[in-house]
This record gives sequence, structure tokens and C-alpha cells, in this order.
Amino acid sequence: MSVSLLFVVGCPVKHSLSPAMHNGVISRLGLPLAYVPVELPKGRLRVFLSIVREANFLGGNITIPFKEEAAELSDVRSEAVEACGAANTLVVRDGRLFAENTDGEGFMDALVMQGWGRRHSNVVLLGAGGAARGIAFALGEAGSSRIVILNRSLQRADEVARVLSPRFPSTRFSTGGIDPGSLEEAFRDADLIVQCTPLGLIGEWSDFPYKAVKKNTRFADLIYCAKGTSVVHMLRARGVSSIDGLPMLACQAARSFALWTGKDPEAELFLSFADKSLKNMIDFTGFSTNWR
Ligand code: NAP
Repeated sequence: MSVSLLFVVGCPVKHSLSPAMHNGVISRLGLPLAYVPVELPKGRLRVFLSIVREANFLGGNITIPFKEEAAELSDVRSEAVEACGAANTLVVRDGRLFAENTDGEGFMDALVMQGWGRRHSNVVLLGAGGAARGIAFALGEAGSSRIVILNRSLQRADEVARVLSPRFPSTRFSTGGIDPGSLEEAFRDADLIVQCTPLGLIGEWSDFPYKAVKKNTRFADLIYCAKGTSVVHMLRARGVSSIDGLPMLACQAARSFALWTGKDPEAELFLSFADKSLKNMIDFTGFSTNWR
């Protein structure tokens, strides 16, 4: 029996939950597939993808720092990839690479899984990187009326707003920095706050204005760790409904898996394997950090 391959490429992938999660689902479904982590130095993506085009790959996941380059090197880009300039999923068909970004819709699925629904009027995004851009695109499609993008580099936030504003004329985009004053002001009217920076995984938020988050605001962190991120802990303690990044990890994975295989297992199945392997990582290796 021949086996097809899926890859995840990025650095470092040794702490990634994705192989355990995907291989768990593959084994549960009994498919002739294997999902392999590939360590790749910067500057070598083009060479790697030339092998992917020719060998027995169905596709794979792309993580930091290759998401933008993967979008450029692909033959066909989805609308989300065109708008965000970043791909997290590649599908191989007859030697051609199709680029997709499942982060945005995976995030929306995670909101639905949580019972929060897709429609959120006033949203604050913390961060303006590839993940934030994908999520801003999906929120625009879902009909958010206002999206505030707060980022360390204001120029990068402005660029996301500039690109997405014409695509979603009914959504008002605005931008700002991440000083406590800007956060406080933006949190005042927020229905949903989405934390899209690596803080919580690498470094922590200092002076996060917890008290400015209203009790009826919802908070979603893209970061996950076995014990929960400190921002999620602090907000839950204040009675604010909050989720970490594990449901999104599972939901974006389920969407990628469906693109590669044509099979549509429930995102909950991915979540159960992700949850189990996150606990194992902590229990058996002592790693408290994780990457996707
Ligand atoms: P990215 O493209 O590298 O963007 C990183 C963003 O975080 C930028 O806006 C950057 O600001 C900001 N940032 C980085 N370090 C910071 C710091 N010390 N203080 C303040 N802001 C900082 O990364 P990405 O692809 O958007 O991913 C962001 C995070 O989300 C990563 O940790 C990733 O692992 C996680 N993620 C999780 C999921 C999931 O399924 N749960 C999916 C995708 C991503 P500047 O523009 O100023 O540099």
C-alpha cells in the first residue's frame, strides 16, 4: 500500500502539536497518510516546495516565518490568501500548489464551537501579523461593523486596514498602538477582543488594562498552553468569557485536512488529540511552550 504525506514546515516545529493532532485523526480514520514535521532553514522554502510538487505529498501546513513566502511561491491563491498575503495551508494537485489560509475561518469555527456565533459588531485585534490579517478578513466577511487593529508597529496595522477597507466597505477599520491608554480606549466598546501576538508564549503583556474589559466582552487568545495563558486566567477571574487558542488550532486543522483529503472529520476530534498531546508535552518533556 502506498502512503501519501502531509508536512508542517516552520521553525521550530519540534514543539508543534500539529503532527500529534493530525496523525491521531489519520490513525482514527485508518487512512494511508503520514503528517511529518520538517525543520527548514530560512531561504530554503523554494527548494523544499519543488520536492513537494514532485513527491507523494497531498499538501501541508506552513507556519512562521514562511507564510508570506509560501503564498508568493504558490500557483493559485485563495481570496483570503490574496488579501492577507499569507498562506497556512498548501494543497498539491498535479504538481501545482494551491494556497489557502484556514486561520480566519478556523477562528470563526472556534467562536461557533464556543457558542459565541460568527457575528461580532465591535472587534479589537491585538496584533497585525499573518494570523490577525486572516482573522480580520474573516470578521469582515462575517459582517463586523468595526474592527480596531492595535499593533506594536503602527505602520503594519495601517497596512492591514488599508488593504481590507476597500474589500469590506461596511466595516470601519481603525488602528492604534498597544500602549495601555490605546487598549483601554478600544476596549470600552468591544464585543470581542482577539489576542493575536505571541505574548503569553514568548514574553507576557505588561500593563494589560484588565479592568477596562467589560464583563460582557468576549476574549479570544490565539496562544494556548496546558495551564492557560495568564491573560485568559486574569480575565476569567474577573468574570469575562475567555478562550485560548486550542479550539482555533483544532478548527483550522480540520479545514486544512478537508482540503487535503476531501474528508470532513469533526473539529472536536482534532481538539481531543490536540488537548491530549498538549498535556503529554508538558507531562513527559517538561516543555511549557508550543508552536503550531
Ligand atoms: P506574525 O505574522 O509573526 O505576527 C506577530 C504579531 O505579533 C505582529 O503583529 C507583531 O507586532 C506582534 N508581536 C510580536 N512580538 C511582540 C511583542 N513582544 N510585543 C507586542 N507585539 C508583538 O505571527 P502570526 O502568524 O500572526 O501569529 C501570531 C501568534 O499567533 C503566534 O504566536 C502563533 O503561534 C499564534 N497562532 C495561533 C494559531 C492557533 O491556531 N491557535 C494560529 C495562528 C497563529 P509587529 O508587527 O510590531 O512586529
